[in-house]
Amino acid sequence: MLNILVCVKQVPDVDLVKMDPVTGSLIREGVPAILNPLDGNAMEAAVRVKEQYGATITAITMGPPAAEAVLRECLSVGADRAVLITDRAFKDADTLATSYVVAKAAEEFGPYDLIFCGKETLDGATGQMGAQLAERFGSALVTSASRILEIDEAADTLVTEREMETGIETVQARIPCLFTIEKTNYQPRIPNFKGKKAARFAEIVTRTASTIPGLDPSRIGAVGSGTIVPRTYPPERGESGVMIDEGSAERNGAKIVEILAETGLI
Ligand code: FAD
Repeated sequence: MLNILVCVKQVPDVDLVKMDPVTGSLIREGVPAILNPLDGNAMEAAVRVKEQYGATITAITMGPPAAEAVLRECLSVGADRAVLITDRAFKDADTLATSYVVAKAAEEFGPYDLIFCGKETLDGATGQMGAQLAERFGSALVTSASRILEIDEAADTLVTEREMETGIETVQARIPCLFTIEKTNYQPRIPNFKGKKAARFAEIVTRTASTIPGLDPSRIGAVGSGTIVPRTYPPERGESGVMIDEGSAERNGAKIVEILAETGLI
């Protein structure tokens, strides 16, 4: 049976996040946290593989204790195990430190045949985690995967499609393989009542810096990070445009010519 890992992240609903104009940091207080949307697609892709081929799915997240909620969401739609990695020692981690901790904690329930990530997150949006995790797991990597076509467990190979600007590419990869999933074909399902109820009472395996076997403290949190973000700020807005509505296309055209002439552009 396939052993699958799905990496998920709880993110603030960015549509509701505002930026503090003085400090330049995001105001997260009072903003609802949600499952990163593309991680919902990744979870759906994993569940479809489970339904077709049989699999055990472990969902994992590194985040604050409240991130337990997104793990319960994963359990409600088909994850068999949920792992929450949480500790103040992980604070200020960049992707280098985050991928190290996630991979180290996931080892306990591996090795994995397939690893699913979202293509990127709504908040950090570096899109680096998938590639870093593939490196740490020593797996093949298919980015922007849009459809898993076939898995041959006997031959340890699979065929998948990936989306590019110019079209669709078919890729054959060896197992183990990590996918960063596109949203195109994996619309997350709505959990049924039974799934929701089971998820509400399911055990969440919780790991901290001191309970992840072999974790090197010099590689976690700010100390283990290769980057810092000194400042975050909104882009400067250009001048807003002028709406032209003179009642007809001809009059609108004439008005545009008039404005261009006034400004000396024609
Ligand atoms: P991406 O690379 O865009 O994510 C791709 C995929 O990786 C996701 O779709 C998901 O499948 C998986 N993934 C991403 N994050 C996780 C996760 N946490 N657990 C499991 N799977 C995951 N964040 C904080 O909350 N507090 C901080 O103090 C903090 N400090 C930071 C400092 C720096 C310098 C930087 C660069 C980032 C910091 N972050 C912090 C952000 C946090 O470390 C990143 O969000 C995290 O490393 C993932 O990066 P990303 O969001 O760009 O993920």
